[in-house]
Amino acid sequence: MTATHLTDAAIQEYAMGLAPQHAAHIDGCPACRAKAQMYREMVAGIQAQPAPVFDFDVSAAVLAHLPAPRRTALPRLLYVALTAILLVSGAALYIFRADVVAVFSGAASMMTWVMVTSLLTILIFQGLDLLKTYRKKMREMLQHSSPATV
Ligand SMILES: [Zn+2]
Repeated sequence: MTATHLTDAAIQEYAMGLAPQHAAHIDGCPACRAKAQMYREMVAGIQAQPAPVFDFDVSAAVLAHLPAPRRTALPRLLYVALTAILLVSGAALYIFRADVVAVFSGAASMMTWVMVTSLLTILIFQGLDLLKTYRKKMREMLQHSSPATV
């Protein structure tokens, strides 16, 4: 009988073959020998485990959860809408050109330029605000649709 037993860490090192200096104690101590045998079986069992292998395609699963790449250019739908608006307004101006000329020739030229400038300014600010709102909503949608942001 030995007064002080080996620590669990020392017995584990011996069981893994890392601490041969404890062989004398383990040979003479049934309690430590039993623990060493248990750790040897545990290590052998762990080493006998097959390496973990996924039974599905990991890359496809990861790619499915990645957010779509962001586009900096305007989306195609906006270009189509702008083109349609320009075509319709151009056609209307062409069809009603006689009336348009009559309206603007009757008014004072200074007043006409003030009206045109005001109209263009309002249209530009409205368009910019529309674009800003659209981008903000698209950003929110992309953030909510992505499962996890890293
Ligand atoms: Zn012992």
